[in-house]
Amino acid sequence: MHIIIIGNGISGSTAARHIRKLSDHKITMISSETEYPFSRTALMYIYMGHMKYDHTKLYEDWFWQKNNIETVNSHVDHINTDQSKIQLSDGTLMEYDKLVIATGSKSNKFGWPGQNLNGVQGLYNIQDLKMMEAASRKGIRRAVIVGGGLIGIEMAEMFHSRQIPVTMLVREDSFWNIVLPQNESQMINRHILANGIDLRLEEELLEIKGKDGSVSSIVCKNSTEEIHCEFVGLTVGVSPNIDFVKSSDILTNKGVLVNSNLQTSVPNVYAIGDCAELSSPKEGRRNIEAVWYTGRMMGEAVANIICNSSESYDQGIWFNSAKFFDIEYQVYGQISVVLPEGIGTLYWEHPSENKAIRINYEMASKSVIGFNLMGIRYRHTVCEKWLTENTHIETVLENLSLANFDPEFFNEYEQSLMDKYNAINRKNLTLKSKRKLRLVENFLQSDLND
Ligand SMILES: Cc1cc2nc3c(=O)[nH]c(=O)nc-3n(C[C@H](O)[C@H](O)[C@H](O)COP(=O)(O)OP(=O)(O)OC[C@H]3O[C@@H](n4cnc5c(N)ncnc54)[C@H](O)[C@@H]3O)c2cc1C
Repeated sequence: MHIIIIGNGISGSTAARHIRKLSDHKITMISSETEYPFSRTALMYIYMGHMKYDHTKLYEDWFWQKNNIETVNSHVDHINTDQSKIQLSDGTLMEYDKLVIATGSKSNKFGWPGQNLNGVQGLYNIQDLKMMEAASRKGIRRAVIVGGGLIGIEMAEMFHSRQIPVTMLVREDSFWNIVLPQNESQMINRHILANGIDLRLEEELLEIKGKDGSVSSIVCKNSTEEIHCEFVGLTVGVSPNIDFVKSSDILTNKGVLVNSNLQTSVPNVYAIGDCAELSSPKEGRRNIEAVWYTGRMMGEAVANIICNSSESYDQGIWFNSAKFFDIEYQVYGQISVVLPEGIGTLYWEHPSENKAIRINYEMASKSVIGFNLMGIRYRHTVCEKWLTENTHIETVLENLSLANFDPEFFNEYEQSLMDKYNAINRKNLTLKSKRKLRLVENFLQSDLND
């Protein structure tokens, strides 16, 4: 059987690795971006000089050949599902038995005047990074970044690392407050400002002006102020990169539509990662989850589906992680911007440092439903276990140290969260003693190892 995977990002490359683990099928992995998979989330560190491109590769180059996974650096222009063939940009036709579409996302552009001038771009792929480098070498006296999301703040940090002044236009009245609860969002506002970024909240882009084909300024929509700049970063979200799929018989909406087996409307054709849109997602989850962790899970799932034809894709517990300048961010489970009825929240914020913990739980059953962490990291396996098992909030609080990477250090906030819970619920719970904790830890560890 010949399996062709279009895309070598985290989803496509994970699918290839796992198909190889499970079978001897012929595997071809095609990408127009790079010959070998690399970590997209590390793009910023190349610009900032912390890493070379080679360090971002997921595996050494020999890995793919050794595992008999053919890599092709080319663009797929067309899919012919009647003949089970794909066509590369040089006209080459390749026949597949199973096809996996893993083509990721592309940066959004909303038709602003001037959006195609030189020096105006998003940040998604290695080519974007090269363009950013070239623009920086030419000289940027000010960069304007449009959009307050994860990629926008990364771009701000990248320019900041080279002392290039940055203005950031954010439509909302607080950074990423369509995802972050108010306290956390405001912490990030303060942090952006503390890093010297000219953050303009409730501001949007009206137009981009140019001179000799390159950007020279932008005009703000609300203040009508004109800001001179040599670079405009368009970081207003991403959408599935599936234009070439639209000329085929495969059904698409925003993304390539798939069922819970990650199968498209056409037999033997699957879609995974950022470009896949689940027709029936789990309750409370999105149809398209364009994050690294989801891509990896889907890659593994599609390998099992193709090779074992038994398992379906389970969205599992929602997880995302990112970095806002120095503040690490992790979310597990359900954390909503506005607290739904029947959901309680415990929030602790460090009085002087950028650290915060939020734990949400159902008030009736007292089961934990979500963790939101700023400046503190929790162990994935522990949080996932607590959430999957609907663990009682009191059990979680008593054993919170199990989730910490450094239990000794965090006694301060654990007690504070416990005090808050006791005050709300008129209880008198205490943190588990270190000896008891160690017993639970041993038990949990053996359970996790099973
Ligand atoms: C700057 C940046 C920072 C990010 N930071 C985080 C983070 O901190 N945490 C997080 O969870 N997520 C982050 N993300 C999102 C995460 O990187 C993506 O969700 C993930 O990489 C998507 O993986 P994928 O395999 O679905 O697609 P991709 O990684 O996009 O891979 C798809 C590949 O397919 C290729 N391709 C597309 N069409 C064709 C075609 N027709 N023919 C041949 N090849 C084609 C593309 O060129 C690309 O190489 C970040 C994204 C960016 C851009």
